[in-house]
Amino acid sequence: MSNKISKICVYCGSNEGNGPDYMKAAEQLGKLLIERNIELVYGGAGVGIMGKLADTVLKGGGHVTGIIPEHLHKKVAHAGLTQIKIVDTMHTRKAMMIDYSDAMIAMPGGLGTFEEILEAVTWQQLRLHTKPCGLLNVNRYYECLLKFLDNAVAERFMKQEHRDILQVSSDPAELLDLLEENEPVEIPKLYGRDDV
Ligand code: AMP
Repeated sequence: MSNKISKICVYCGSNEGNGPDYMKAAEQLGKLLIERNIELVYGGAGVGIMGKLADTVLKGGGHVTGIIPEHLHKKVAHAGLTQIKIVDTMHTRKAMMIDYSDAMIAMPGGLGTFEEILEAVTWQQLRLHTKPCGLLNVNRYYECLLKFLDNAVAERFMKQEHRDILQVSSDPAELLDLLEENEPVEIPKLYGRDDV
């Protein structure tokens, strides 16, 4: 089965990162979304990698939906998006970003990005959704996180199949292809139980 992705949620840094590679990667991903006619769904800010990605898609004539809580809207919202949804809390924002999208990926970022992508994977692990999840591993930024997850599997706090929900590539085109081909995992979260 293949997932037709027409809307992708991208979690990414509200900072630019250290050096030009991260902003360049945002530009590269933005251009690819235009080429493949995929709508960008993201956190709605005009700063950092988030702003660069949205600007690139808008410049190419694409569709960008921002989902942002009221308290951040006043401070960092992008002013020129195709569509902006202003919500009450960060929790509503994250749930809406997943509901509205066909797949979720993370580019490099900080705590906000980590919690968003890990929540998306966690919710697939619990079979609350079946949408593919991925990491765009620019500059091997996520190597330590991937090792950390492997260790969680080795220590039997997570199953390998759930670790593998996260599709990983440093190449955005390859990552999108992996997401399109990905099958949702349907095995129980707990070792020794088949009902949870
Ligand atoms: P961070 O990775 O910590 O820079 O946070 C950015 C990511 O988390 C984005 O994907 C946003 O959806 C969300 N987020 C958390 N805090 C902020 C913020 N102050 N401004 C914009 N987005 C934020």
